[in-house]
Amino acid sequence: MTNKAPKPVLFIDRLTNTTTNKIEPNDLIPGRWILDLSEEAVFQNSVAASLYDFVIPDLSGKWNILNESGDRNEGVFSKSLIPEDLEVDSIRTIGDVLSQLIDSQSTWAEWVNIVPLVPELTEDVDLHSLEVEVRDNLGHLEMVCQNPRMHLHVEVERVIVSKAKRVPPQAVSYLASHTEDWDRPLIRGIMPKRILAEVRHDQFDIYENRVSARLVDNLISYLTLRIQKLRKLLKVFQDKEDYSSDIAGTYQRHQRISALWGESIDENEGKKKVEKSLHELEWLKYKLMGFLGAVLYKEVPRRTYVPRTLKNTNIFTNDQHYSHVAELWREWASTGADKVKSPKQYYDDVQGLYKGMNAFTMLLILRALETLNYTPDSTSERKEIFPGSEIQLINSGQFIRLQWSLNGTVSIRINDQKLNIVGLPIALGFCSNDQVSDILSRFDHLLEKSNSSENLILYLGENDSSKSLDVSTRYALHTVGNDPRYSNYKIACLPISPWEIASTERIVRALRWFLSNHIFLSYPLHVDVPNEILELANVKENLRWLLSDMEKSTVEIKIPPREYEWDQIGFDLLHEQFVNDCVEAEKRFKEIEENLKKAGRDRDLAKKKYVAIDELVRCKKNLKALKKVINELARVKERSVFFLQCPTCGTEANSINDFEPRGKDSFHCTCSSCSTFWSIQKCSNGHCYPTMLPSGDFFEVSEEIPGWVDRIYGGDILAVPGKKQDGSWGFVCPDCGEIN
Ligand SMILES: [Zn+2]
Ligand SMILES: [Zn+2]
Repeated sequence: MTNKAPKPVLFIDRLTNTTTNKIEPNDLIPGRWILDLSEEAVFQNSVAASLYDFVIPDLSGKWNILNESGDRNEGVFSKSLIPEDLEVDSIRTIGDVLSQLIDSQSTWAEWVNIVPLVPELTEDVDLHSLEVEVRDNLGHLEMVCQNPRMHLHVEVERVIVSKAKRVPPQAVSYLASHTEDWDRPLIRGIMPKRILAEVRHDQFDIYENRVSARLVDNLISYLTLRIQKLRKLLKVFQDKEDYSSDIAGTYQRHQRISALWGESIDENEGKKKVEKSLHELEWLKYKLMGFLGAVLYKEVPRRTYVPRTLKNTNIFTNDQHYSHVAELWREWASTGADKVKSPKQYYDDVQGLYKGMNAFTMLLILRALETLNYTPDSTSERKEIFPGSEIQLINSGQFIRLQWSLNGTVSIRINDQKLNIVGLPIALGFCSNDQVSDILSRFDHLLEKSNSSENLILYLGENDSSKSLDVSTRYALHTVGNDPRYSNYKIACLPISPWEIASTERIVRALRWFLSNHIFLSYPLHVDVPNEILELANVKENLRWLLSDMEKSTVEIKIPPREYEWDQIGFDLLHEQFVNDCVEAEKRFKEIEENLKKAGRDRDLAKKKYVAIDELVRCKKNLKALKKVINELARVKERSVFFLQCPTCGTEANSINDFEPRGKDSFHCTCSSCSTFWSIQKCSNGHCYPTMLPSGDFFEVSEEIPGWVDRIYGGDILAVPGKKQDGSWGFVCPDCGEIN
């Protein structure tokens, strides 16, 4: 018996859902890989790893993995891919909320109730207790900085006579024996050049002053972070204000954003408070920066380290100013800022961040699907949502399947089409042009090779977080994959952040494009019908909404029918007739059989019997085929209602007045209640694509910059609007970029 050799560690590539046993150094992209472990012990960054842990960097950005048999794989994560602390914190906080949701086995209804913004925004609006303390005790800290206590230290040194202030008793005898310190001899003694004198050293570098100096440092970095956070918060409020005052955007979008916002905070009140707090904190920071020039700060060595736990000294207990410094220090320490983490803590934190990114991605998808009017079917309503679960949703007869896989990726299936969505906790907007191009082209290449489904990458960022990049690169980071004019990549890529209210709208746009594209392009819906039935049923005649094609043996629903039109086709009668035919045929057959029994052998009757059997079989076959056709047609009719549903306001259009078939495979429909139109458009190269325009008018945009579509139209658009040469607006063909 030999021992089984330990299996190598396997890494699952979440982009392609394939495994490998080695990660190339330049493929180390945060969030891309997870561990597929067998039972043996595996250490990642010196911490014991579990199944489905993410491949993550350690504190210094390095990565290594080691299994029992000593196999090692290592590399370094690019620093620029790692998001900044504030983003990380926000994802982790919302991730915590969502992981509780998963733990408590929540269903669709509970998920879509969660606001996809940083939780407890209101807690950050007002000053925290430390900040109030700093404000109230700033005077004491200032006194300490300007007039620090010092340790008096007297030493006897040889100094130039003019500098000597207090001369110790031993100076005379010392001078007598040190002629080199004489200037010249005088008649009655000597004129000294140097003399022993008491020199007073004011020693500032005492424990209490070190604490005070480091307190200034710590408070400044604390405030810097807080100010950053408040500025972000202010931007959230301003965004909201912009959305409310923007002429652009649909009424529905305003409603959605207001509803989303209303769930979390009152923006007028909030904005004023944030501005006030921000103002106060900026002033505090300004004052503290001033202390950097004071005596105390200059005299205490820059790098002296002070442990977090304060010693109780005489000065800290009794001095009227220092006692407040001690209080401030303790208050600061209690915020947990600047705390050094153990490798294990750091490991768990980063895993939490990556898992939080997955859950946040799922939350945005669920909210977006809800916005798009999808609801779980009756069985999925009660299903809990967690990694590994799958639910079925429905909208106007269209079913879709939503799957959250164990590795955290999400897929949406409609008919035989699939969209994969992967949330990566990377800050693509802060990378260099080359780096972004490199990553996107590698993703493109990989995904093209591995499967035929569509892919959407969500990265951590906001609308303007990629400002320093080239325009074409920025477009590549802001696309749902339907504008080939600027981006060379096929992959759809969008920023998401719990700091940006528009994140959900972007996902709405992406999912709308994927779903509507497939539904619209299935127009006209059709079913296969055997020619005999076509002839018997006479469906080819006189129906404005149905078109039968003898050549293809199909019937097509050109216009979603009204209920009475559906009844006109007379399926009941038809069915009755077919049933009757069967009954008749059976009767004839039985009669012949009876006669045969009576007559004994009769060649003529025997022949008739075979004809009757043949007829009976034919009737039964037709009845079966008719039932199938009726069922299929009824299903397709249900689905055709989708073409009537206004994508902006949900009103069902009137199929007689509003819906207009155009040519073989396109249509145009207008909403009588909000004037939105939606249609299938065709470019000169023959590509068909779905379009919609809220309120029926293009918004005038002075400049097309990356992200403008999201900004102006939000989720209420399909093909991207574009300006033609002559200055008028049209829709961009997603295949060739032509504007029509
Ligand atoms: Zn409408
Ligand atoms: Zn085209």
